[in-house]
Order: sequence, then structure tokens, then C-alpha cells
Amino acid sequence: MQKLTSIAELRAWLARERSHGHTMGLVPTMGALHSGHMALVESARAHCDRVVLSIFVNPRQFGPGEDFDAYPRDLAGDCALAEAHGVDAVFAPPTEEMYPHAAGPLIVAGRQANILCGASRPGHFDGVLQVVCKLFNLVQPERAFFGQKDAQQVAIIQTFVRDYNLPLAIEVIPVVREPDGLAKSSRNVYLGAEERAAAPAIHAALQLCRAQLQAGQTPAAALQAARAHLAQHLPQGRIDYFELLAWPDLLPLAQGTRQCIALAAVHLGRTRLIDNITFES
Ligand code: AMP
Repeated sequence: MQKLTSIAELRAWLARERSHGHTMGLVPTMGALHSGHMALVESARAHCDRVVLSIFVNPRQFGPGEDFDAYPRDLAGDCALAEAHGVDAVFAPPTEEMYPHAAGPLIVAGRQANILCGASRPGHFDGVLQVVCKLFNLVQPERAFFGQKDAQQVAIIQTFVRDYNLPLAIEVIPVVREPDGLAKSSRNVYLGAEERAAAPAIHAALQLCRAQLQAGQTPAAALQAARAHLAQHLPQGRIDYFELLAWPDLLPLAQGTRQCIALAAVHLGRTRLIDNITFES
């Protein structure tokens, strides 16, 4: 497996691989890799001849006071895991390589970024689109792989790719969970033992919300039941949002909406956890 840190090295490696006619799959990550990331790698290997996994804790998607400095970093461990799962190249550039100029053109993510995580993290999705756009231009993959775990991110990237006619396919991989239902996340390492034990209540509340809606309850009643479940089973949690929307446009549920998404973000101690489930109404 190649370990590449500069754009020049990446481009030289890509040119060699392209000269053999190999197709490229890109898996963008911030590292601290776990089996959720590896599900993206497995799919990339199934669809593409070569897999590039990027590891970059992107400062432009963190707001002031967020966990950019504390974000878990383990490049050696990540490379070992990536190699064991058949990744062909890890691209792990330093910040100056990705952002040599302090003030450059920006990307504004638009309507889908003004709600949910975007409301609590202003500018977050602008930073996500900036780094994703750079990675797409650098690697020029046929396909890029993203997790449904970050559903709003997926919706925004799909809109960006469609509206700006980017020549690649976006592949979306289902949420990988712990056996007790907690969505795998690099941030789960922040959880204390009691927080970790109670955290599956988020997934349970999402499932309850779905069950209520499918049993004919109104969206408001389904949300109220889900929030009450969280208050009872995760009393130490502070709900940032708990919403039911149409998927993937992220508009309010309307008469005839078929694809729904229930999404939650919950502060648990110093950790902010997000999760979601999609389903037919
Ligand atoms: P991150 O390193 O957190 O930026 O995640 C990199 C990619 O892995 C994103 O597309 C995430 O949505 C995806 N991912 C992270 N956790 C999971 C998970 N539990 N299941 C599926 N995909 C995930």
C-alpha cells in the first residue's frame, strides 16, 4: 500500500495506475478508522480497480470551540487497518498541502445546509464541500464512497455533484452499528463508560419514531414519543435536534412523502453524537 502525503506524489501514483487503465474509487475520511469506514472500503474494492483512502482532519469544517484539536488521530494504526482491508493508497496530506492560501474562493452549500447540523455548526458544510471538491479534483475518481451515517452530508454532496455536473458517481453505504445499535463513530472514544452504556437510546428513539409514524401517528406525535424516550433513557443527553424529514431532499414531510428520514443529534458529555434511519412512510 502506498502512503502519499503530497499532491505531487498522489498525482504521480494516479498517473501510473491510470496508464494501466485502472478505475479509481475514493473513500474520504478524517481518520481514526473503524469498521464503518471499512464498509466504504469494501464497497469501493467491489466497484473499482484501485481504492484511494484519504485521511485529512479538515480544519475548515470545524467551528470555533469544536473538537478540531482533540479529534482522535492515529495515522500508523489507520494505515495498518487500511492496508489489511486492501486499500491501494492512503493520501494523508498536511494542512498546508491542502490549504496553501489563507483566503481563497469559498463554496456555499445552500438550503440543505441551513438546517440540522448546519444550523448548529454554521459553515460546517461549506468546509465539507470545499475539501470534497478538492479531493474529487485531485483524485478524479469514477466513484466516491460516503456513509449514510452522515445523511445530511450525503444529501448535500449529491446535490453539489448534480448541480455542478461533476463527472463521478456517489455511492452511499448503510450505517454500520455496534451490536447494541450505537452508530460507529470516531467520536465514540470520547464517551465515558456510563455514557457509552446509555448511548444506544438514540438509535432506539429513532426506531420508535419510525414505528409510531408507520402505525399512523402524526409526525408531531411520533417525534414527541421519540423525544420522551430519550428523556427517559438518556436523561444526561441534551438534544440538539430530533427531526423527521423527507429523504433525500430534507424538506418537511408532506402528504404523499414516501421516503422519510428520522435524524438526531445529541450532546452527551463533551461528545456530540449524530444518527439517523431512513424508511418508507
Ligand atoms: P469521517 O472520518 O467521520 O469523516 O467519516 C468518513 C466517512 O465514513 C463518511 O462518509 C462517513 O459517513 C463514513 N462513516 C463514518 N462512520 C460510519 C458508520 N458508522 N457507518 C457507515 N459509514 C460511516
